[in-house]
Amino acid sequence: MRKKNEITFVFDSSSENESLARMVVAAFLTRLDPTMEELADVKTAVSEAVTNAIIHGYEGREGKITIHSIIEENQIEIEIQDSGVGIPDVEKAMEPLYTTKPEMDRSGMGFAFMEAFMDELEVHSETDKGTTIRMKKTIYSALNLS
Ligand code: ATP
Ligand code: MG
Repeated sequence: MRKKNEITFVFDSSSENESLARMVVAAFLTRLDPTMEELADVKTAVSEAVTNAIIHGYEGREGKITIHSIIEENQIEIEIQDSGVGIPDVEKAMEPLYTTKPEMDRSGMGFAFMEAFMDELEVHSETDKGTTIRMKKTIYSALNLS
C-alpha cells in the first residue's frame, strides 16, 4: 500500500452536503482500518467543522467548502476551508460554550468536540476572507497492519 494518499473535494455550502462530506472522509479513512470509535470521532469532527462553515462562515448563503485530506503512514490530516465571514477572535470562539448564535440553539461545543476527538486542531481565520480548520489524528488500529 502507498504510504501517502491525498484527496481534495469542493462542494456547495448546503446542509444536505454535510453528510456527504462526512461519508467521503470516512470512506477515505477506511484504508487505515480504523476502529468504530476512531471512525466515529473523525466523522463527528468533520461534521462540526462543515456545519460551522455552512451556518457561521456563509450564514446560510451560497459558497464553496473545500476539504483537503492527506493520509500519511497511519495519520489522517483533514483541512476544511470556507471563504466566508471569518472569525474575529479565534481564541474566544474556541472556548467551550462560546457561541455567536445562541438564538439558533447552538451550544458552542463544536470546537470542543473537534479538539476532544482529534489529536491536533488548528484554526486559521481572517475576517471577510474565511476560515481554515486543520485537524490531525493518528489511527492506532493501523499499527497492527505493519
Ligand atoms: P455548536 O457547534 O455547539 O452547535 P457553535 O457552532 O456556535 O455551536 P462552535 O462550533 O464551537 O460553536 O463555534 C464557536 C463559534 O465560532 C461560533 O458560534 C461562530 O461564532 C464561530 N465560528 C466557528 N466556525 C466558524 C466559521 N467557519 N466561520 C465563521 N465563524 C465561525
Ligand atoms: Mg459549531
